[in-house]
Amino acid sequence: MSNPIISFVSQLTESEKVAWLDILSSKLPNECIKLDKDLSAYEKSQCEIAIVANPDPIILSQYTNLTWVQSLWAGVDALVSQLTENNQHPSFKLIRLIDPLLAQTMSEAVLTWVLYLHRDTPKYLKQQKSGEWKQHRYLLPQARTVGILGLGKLGELSALRLNDNGFNVLGWSQSKKLIKGVHCYSGNDGLVTMVEQCHIIICLLPLTSDTYQLIDNKLLKKLPKGASLINFARGGIVANEDLIQYLDSDHLEHAILDVFEQEPLDKNDPYWSHEKITVLPHISAPTHIESAGNIVAKNIRTYRLNGELPLYIDWKKGY
Ligand code: NAP
Repeated sequence: MSNPIISFVSQLTESEKVAWLDILSSKLPNECIKLDKDLSAYEKSQCEIAIVANPDPIILSQYTNLTWVQSLWAGVDALVSQLTENNQHPSFKLIRLIDPLLAQTMSEAVLTWVLYLHRDTPKYLKQQKSGEWKQHRYLLPQARTVGILGLGKLGELSALRLNDNGFNVLGWSQSKKLIKGVHCYSGNDGLVTMVEQCHIIICLLPLTSDTYQLIDNKLLKKLPKGASLINFARGGIVANEDLIQYLDSDHLEHAILDVFEQEPLDKNDPYWSHEKITVLPHISAPTHIESAGNIVAKNIRTYRLNGELPLYIDWKKGY
C-alpha cells in the first residue's frame, strides 16, 4: 500500500512553491507530495504529514488527521502564535527546520558583524564622511567580551566560532549550558550578570511570550556605556523606542538589526536613517533550499521507517 499524500501548505509565491515541490519530490521519489490547492477534502482528511512555509492557519485546520507538520523555516514563532490563540494548541506535532548548514551560515554572520564592530567600522565610516583622520585605540579580541542571548542550534555554534577567533564569549539560555571556552549563564540574575560585562550582545533567542521585548530599557541600562547590540533573532524581542533612546543618549554605540516586527521594514521607519543603526533585510541565515530539502526528506524517511518523529516544538514553551 502506498503512503498517504503529503500536502504542501504555503502562502509563498507560485514559483517558490513549485521550486520547493520540485526539490522535495526529487528527494522523496517514493512519496506523493502535492500542493494544498490540488487536494480534495477527502485527500486532506487522509494526510498525516504536511510540509509548511508561511501556511494560512485556516487552511491548515482543514487537515483533521495530521500527526506532524514540518516547517521549512528555523523560526516558527509566527505559526506557533497563530496556532495557539485562545490558549489551545493543535493535536499535531510541529517540527521546525534544524539544519547544521543554517547554524554555520548564522555563525558566519555573527563573526562578520562582530568583527565589523570590533574593528570600529561604524566610527571610521562616519569619519570618512567628514574627512576626519582619527585612529581609535585597538583592542585585542581577547579584551572584547561578547554575550550571546540564546545558546540553541544557532547560538552555540556562533559562540564557539567567536571563541575560536579569540573573543571572550559569554552565553545565556533558559537551562544552564556547558560549552567549552564559553562562560554560560541562566536565569534573570544570570542575564544581568552577563550583560553587565558585554561590549557586544547578540540576540539569538526565539520570540516567545517570555522573550517579547526582553531587550528593553531595563536591560539596555545594564550594558556598559559604549556597548553595541546585534539582533539576528526576531524584531519583537527588542523594544524599539528604548533602543533608539539608548543610542541617542550615547549609552549604546551601535545596533545591527536584521529582523523587524514588520518586514519589509516600512520606508518611513526611523531605523533606516539612524546613523547608529545598520539595517539588514533579514539575511543573516537564509534557508538553503537544497540542504533544507535533504533534512526534510531525512525526517520523513525516518518516520516512514520506524515512526520516529524529529525534535518538535513544546507548545507551552513556544519553541
Ligand atoms: P533553538 O535551538 O530553539 O535555541 C533557542 C535558545 O534560546 C536555547 O538556548 C533556549 O534555551 C534559549 N531560550 C529560549 N527562551 C528563553 C528564555 N525565556 N530565557 C532564556 N533563554 C531562552 O533556536 P535556534 O535554532 O538557535 O534559533 C534561534 C532563533 O533564531 C530562531 O527562533 C529564529 O527566530 C532566529 N533565526 C533567525 C534567522 C535570520 O536569518 N535572521 C534565521 C534562522 C533563525 P534552552 O537551550 O535552555 O532551551
